[in-house]
Amino acid sequence: MKQQGAEIHEECGVFGIFGVPDAANLVYYGLHSLQHRGQEGCGIVVCGEDGVLRRVKGQGLVSEVFDEDKLGSLPGSMAIGHVRYSTTGASTIENVQPFLFHHNTGDFALAHNGNLVNSQQLRRYLEDSGSLFQSSSDSEILAHLIRKDTQDRKKPRIIAIRDALNMIEGAFAFLILTRHRIYACRDKHGLRPLSLGRLGDGYVLSSETCAFDVIGAEFVRDIEPGEIVTIDHQGVRSSFYSDFRHHFMCAMEYIYFSRPDSDIEGCNVHNFRKLTGRLLYEEAPADADIVVGVPDSSLSAAMGYSEASGLPYEMGLVKNKYIGRTFIQPSQAMREKGVKMKMSAVKTVVSGKRVVLIDDSLVRGTTSKRIVRMLRDAGASEVHLRLASPPITRPCFYGVDISTYDELICAHKSLEEVREILDVDSLAFLSERALYEAGRRSELCLACFNGHYPTYLYQSIEEANKDGKF
Ligand code: SF4
Repeated sequence: MKQQGAEIHEECGVFGIFGVPDAANLVYYGLHSLQHRGQEGCGIVVCGEDGVLRRVKGQGLVSEVFDEDKLGSLPGSMAIGHVRYSTTGASTIENVQPFLFHHNTGDFALAHNGNLVNSQQLRRYLEDSGSLFQSSSDSEILAHLIRKDTQDRKKPRIIAIRDALNMIEGAFAFLILTRHRIYACRDKHGLRPLSLGRLGDGYVLSSETCAFDVIGAEFVRDIEPGEIVTIDHQGVRSSFYSDFRHHFMCAMEYIYFSRPDSDIEGCNVHNFRKLTGRLLYEEAPADADIVVGVPDSSLSAAMGYSEASGLPYEMGLVKNKYIGRTFIQPSQAMREKGVKMKMSAVKTVVSGKRVVLIDDSLVRGTTSKRIVRMLRDAGASEVHLRLASPPITRPCFYGVDISTYDELICAHKSLEEVREILDVDSLAFLSERALYEAGRRSELCLACFNGHYPTYLYQSIEEANKDGKF
């Protein structure tokens, strides 16, 4: 089930617990706070005292899939969980993670956030050498590589994991649960976040740090790009599967996906967005009366723009909290209706006012166009649109469902053409430089803005578009 209405879709979220009783209950709360990263399906695998790995998974929200009975059927102090939004593979129960593998060298479970760019090549290689896939998700590829290596070459599992990681290319944060330990791995480009926390005598792993606060865990550190962290009864050990290591964190994690209460590589998401708002004002001031942010992900940037400009920040748009995320509404007409259902303009606030509208990003333009219309219908005399990111001109190959290349409004149109289509009085985007400045970083993935993909792609944009992959 792909949600429509929002134009960019989150990838997935992973969460793990080691050495804490009733681990499944804690994973439940952890996954609940990562729910914004995927609403299509979720699952938890625990390892019980008897060494048996047990799993419950299903399609839907965490609160829909799990109840007390199901959590009660998952005893143990080690567990991993996953929330899914499908960027590759069909939306079926088989593709809901964690995957669980039974094997004569020992069972293991695997949860993955991200996307592999060489999955087609690896799948062909593995199938040719006898692997049978349970799902169409490319996350399963790592499991087959590990299994094959452990079996064929009698390698210790950590060596098999290291060698398997060296064969895959792309964006990933993996959690692997075995009878005795949890392995946490992050891709060598540093595209996807993964953090380590402490809870009593145990450990916690999460795609986002906001999930630590919910269960009372303390942040310890981020898993480094190219690192494999092993957690077992001896404690935490670190090794690196690659000498090539970078910090090309997905800029969209800061701009749009992650919760404002999460810290990514030492930078709080709300603070990042607020700073982009300030920089946006410096780069593109607007002659206006009020600043209005598109709820929810643009509110921090709108606050920053308001502070820097001295213009009042007003609640000109209100989101209907109780409608939740809009589910499958495939037709354009339905999508447009969805936006209206989700958001309204506050007439008394915007009527007669020159509005600076702050949004986090511009993808197809459909949602922005509707919001501008809404503000004008509510009486706004001018609407100046400011985007807290550069124009999106390319698809993402790393697990973010941005839209198809053909649908990206900025891929094919000039700034003036886009302004006209959106019917705004002025239009401006944040620079790439400002994103580096806001994150106080020298590396970021900005590929969907500038086409500088940090990895080899194995596929052209045109091929990917034809495949309907994005
Ligand atoms: S291409 Fe864009 S969405 Fe994809 S990882 Fe890079 S910054 Fe993130």
